[in-house]
Amino acid sequence: MYLSIDFEDFNHDLKRSLGIWKTGPLNKDFLWEKYSIINSLFKSSSTKKGRSGTFFCTGIIASKEPELIKKISSDGHEIACHYNYHDVMEGQSEYEIEKNLTEAKNALEEASGKPVHGFRAPMFSIDKHNSYQYKIVEKLFTYDSSFSCTTKAELKKFKRKMKLEKLKILPIFHKKISKFKFRLGGSYLKLFPYIYSKRMFEMSLKNGFTPHIYLHPYEFGVSEQLRVPKDELLSLGMMKAFYWSIRQNQWLKFRNETLKFKLGNLLLNNNLEGTLYDFSLSTQFLN
Ligand SMILES: [Zn+2]
Repeated sequence: MYLSIDFEDFNHDLKRSLGIWKTGPLNKDFLWEKYSIINSLFKSSSTKKGRSGTFFCTGIIASKEPELIKKISSDGHEIACHYNYHDVMEGQSEYEIEKNLTEAKNALEEASGKPVHGFRAPMFSIDKHNSYQYKIVEKLFTYDSSFSCTTKAELKKFKRKMKLEKLKILPIFHKKISKFKFRLGGSYLKLFPYIYSKRMFEMSLKNGFTPHIYLHPYEFGVSEQLRVPKDELLSLGMMKAFYWSIRQNQWLKFRNETLKFKLGNLLLNNNLEGTLYDFSLSTQFLN
């Protein structure tokens, strides 16, 4: 199985998405602390290649805390790109997309001292109806992991629709029930019982996809220190402040402690396979 981390600062990014600020200080201690936990998890892998994984990092972390990116890279992990800020890309212009991707890639390469090959859009939010955003990703990266699907036929159809020639797509497996897409990773892994992940694993394999789980630093244990407090949310109005207070429980608190057990169980029965870049070079991605 593959494990990739969307390495982002939840508190910083939520404030930006709610319009509380454009940018501000990062929660550096938190990021270092969670990285250390995640790194230990990789390093406990029984296979050598499993001791390295892929970290999709926001460019802003590379700009504000380059030492952390350097450390992740020097520990043998792959630094990939998770956009510049953790913004929704859908609806952004060609100019904005190219500017943000270039800035992020440059900052990540400068901090890590290595080329960056992979990309994943924040919240998978890249335009999947028109091809202009994907064409820019293709120009700058070797592979993308912002697409989710159930079958290989869907993947093929999507690549044709996006007019992709060189860019490799490493999809996240999903199971569609009604209009909801249930994925393998993030909140789904945390909120649902272990049997959910186990079944998703089996379905993914049955459909010809090596299982690939994505997670975030704040999911590794309760992460209350990242909470945007109510008094800061009040500028949005009472109703919104209430809504976002509740929603934060989903990411920072609710069933976070169960992740360790579920991940541990999955890792008992499945080896970690290494970085997504190496995976993208394997024979099944020759296209
Ligand atoms: Zn993200």
